[in-house]
Amino acid sequence: MKFSFFSNDIAIDLGTANTLVWMKGKGIVLNEPSIVAYDRTTKNVIAVGHEANAMVGKTHKEIRTIRPLKDGVIADFEIAEEMLRAFIRKVSQSWQPVRRVVICVPSGITEVEKRAVRDSAEHAGAKEVYLLAEPMAAAIGVGLDVHEPVGNMIVDIGGGTTEIAVIALSGIVSDESIRVAGDEMTDAIVQYFKRKHNMLIGERTAEFIKHEVGSAYPVEEDVIIEVKGRDLLEGIPRMIEVSSADIRESLQQSVQLIIEAIMNLLERTPPELSADIFDRGIILTGGGALLKGLDERIARETRLPVHIADDPLTAVVRGSGKVLENLQDYSSVLLKSKRY
Ligand code: ADP
Ligand code: MG
Repeated sequence: MKFSFFSNDIAIDLGTANTLVWMKGKGIVLNEPSIVAYDRTTKNVIAVGHEANAMVGKTHKEIRTIRPLKDGVIADFEIAEEMLRAFIRKVSQSWQPVRRVVICVPSGITEVEKRAVRDSAEHAGAKEVYLLAEPMAAAIGVGLDVHEPVGNMIVDIGGGTTEIAVIALSGIVSDESIRVAGDEMTDAIVQYFKRKHNMLIGERTAEFIKHEVGSAYPVEEDVIIEVKGRDLLEGIPRMIEVSSADIRESLQQSVQLIIEAIMNLLERTPPELSADIFDRGIILTGGGALLKGLDERIARETRLPVHIADDPLTAVVRGSGKVLENLQDYSSVLLKSKRY
């Protein structure tokens, strides 16, 4: 009988909205919202991921749900660590703990946060932890040869942050990170209903509207949708009709801020790399890349070709997985972090 040896090496995209795990030789084994439900008094974690997500907006006073990485920084270290450990536990084969872990972190992360992420993985049993910047992982995930002496621009629009980076020769030449991304867009929709219609809608409803009829450019025929919520004046449930053009208007400011950040980075890019970007264009990754017409809108304003990555929500974890499976080839792209 042949003895088969399973390794438990994993790569993790610890996103502000979603956490994905890649297992060596298997591919994506986990894809869940980065949400934790915990007991307010004891601080015990009750549920993580999908299970915790189902409790959002429906908890009673003893239970709280939070997204520990909401704004791209770790808001609550303890809870973030518990979440990471719970996800790692979920994918590891019980008889063999996780050994090697590649974790993606936002490019603007501080030394303290890097250390917290590293510690969490070590507490979960990892013996070797490697950190990788998100835009780099996204670039590798979309199939770019990041070692080439050629400039590529990646725009990763997640839940809490938009990370924009120019990559060449295995490194990030310049980057911009702003706290305007998918969450901000969802919130803009909530605010629109409050301001224009005196109606309170839930975050999930706003998220649904964003996915279904949200747009950044008039690419499709405008449609009218029915939206239910609570009337702020009368306090009773109500339904109103709005057009997708109204929703587009409400998203305008967030979209504009993302475009301005792209413009800023283009201005700071060395000319030889600008020439490469002129030829190759901009690549969009992350869930925000799915907003209808965003590619078109960015292309019009920057006058550059814009491409949406295949399956933009998994680009980062696929890139991290590739690094994990070819650590030798990619050792130069890993983040150096101080050892304490
Ligand atoms: P993160 O890396 O921060 O976890 P993701 O890349 O997983 O974020 O993207 C999550 C964001 O993408 C959320 O704000 C979500 O609403 C948004 N998103 C997902 N699908 C769509 C869609 N079809 N249209 C617009 N936004 C979307
Ligand atoms: Mg991400």
